[in-house]
Amino acid sequence: MTYKEENDRLMQSILRGTFFNAYKTDSDSLSNLNFKSLEMFISPVCNQSCEYCYLIRYGNGLYPKEIRDNSVILHNVDLLIDWIIKNEYKPKIDVFSGEIFSLPIGFEVLEKINRLSDTTVVIPTNFTFIPEQAERVKDLMQQYKERGNRLFLSASIDGKYCEGNRPSKNKIRDDEYYDKVFEFCYENNFAFHPMIYSHRIECWKENFKWFIDMFKKHGFKGTPLYLLEVRNEEWTDSQIEIFEDFVYWLTDWCVRNEKNLFKEGFNILSSMLSTIGRGIGCGIQSALYVRMGDLAILPCHRTSYKGLNYGKFIVDGEIVEIESENIENMVATYSFNADTLPVCESCMIKHVCSHGCLGCQFETVGDMFTPNPKVCQLEHAKVKGFVRALVNLGIYNEIVSQCSKEKQINFGLVKENINGK
Ligand code: SF4
Ligand code: SF4
Repeated sequence: MTYKEENDRLMQSILRGTFFNAYKTDSDSLSNLNFKSLEMFISPVCNQSCEYCYLIRYGNGLYPKEIRDNSVILHNVDLLIDWIIKNEYKPKIDVFSGEIFSLPIGFEVLEKINRLSDTTVVIPTNFTFIPEQAERVKDLMQQYKERGNRLFLSASIDGKYCEGNRPSKNKIRDDEYYDKVFEFCYENNFAFHPMIYSHRIECWKENFKWFIDMFKKHGFKGTPLYLLEVRNEEWTDSQIEIFEDFVYWLTDWCVRNEKNLFKEGFNILSSMLSTIGRGIGCGIQSALYVRMGDLAILPCHRTSYKGLNYGKFIVDGEIVEIESENIENMVATYSFNADTLPVCESCMIKHVCSHGCLGCQFETVGDMFTPNPKVCQLEHAKVKGFVRALVNLGIYNEIVSQCSKEKQINFGLVKENINGK
């Protein structure tokens, strides 16, 4: 057997023991949950040009122009769906793309995915389909329901005061538009995932209050808001200070509004307290990423640069096998623990840090596994703002004592550092 054949076998064996095994079973054990997802990366083409988006900045590297032929993408979607059906797999499907409902093939792709049954499909969308295509999207959701599938949309809108970071090529986003977006999400139980970016960070308190007011206005029972800071390197020192102040303010807001920080900390706070069953909090270890233009198997949608990809599906009329490319990167990425990365390994907040995005790290530092110092500064500010708020609110011991021992030590070091100043 050649070295290449051995690598192909190794890749097939790893995938069988992890994702393919989990796709076969209904069990929700933690090890299965961590391997349940399959992400279809459809296209980098979008109707917005968000300032922080890596598809805008690096789309040609992540999804080269030569593999963007719509008819090929559609054919590959069919091949992948056939492969899932033939193997009786039941993955949770994530559809990742530049705005899917604005693509000429977007609806067709989603109709093809609906050949599956009893499947959950999650799609982040910028909601520019409101109002013109709202009925068409509702029809699609009905079609999914009829086949026993569940279609969840996740609203990528940054909020009234920060939407300037996401210039739309053809959309006027006035109050009437936002009312329609919130009505749609209320009716269908969809959540919002704005990004907290350096630019306009000073607007975030007002922006957060706007989200909360809109939830109240539209009758939401909870506050379905998932906050995540953009871990790019362009944050300035003063923007990081404002971010720290926002984290402080948000913690204070949560406590005053009787939110459980572990469960209702809008991800940005709760992720510091909770423990995950894998080496890094993002999805890079918990989904199989497939680029639909060439059926390449990727580390993820922001690390799909030439040379980093794990391998690809081989087609002979149908998907017949898997071929390896960078198996070393596959083994490293699936098995690493972020706490042991260079720099992180000796960092005082490694157990409470969200860590950087490996794609950003590759783009800026030149290595997927080496943190970007500016992002580290941002993460330190986040933890510091949170700890300062817990101390000043008099709930530090109550909250931190419920965390793992490692987290307690990290929070303790940050607290000492604050006291020492
Ligand atoms: S702050 Fe930077 S070095 Fe420290 S754990 Fe986070 S990513 Fe790693
Ligand atoms: S490496 Fe970055 S883009 Fe990839 S899954 Fe993690 S956070 Fe997302």
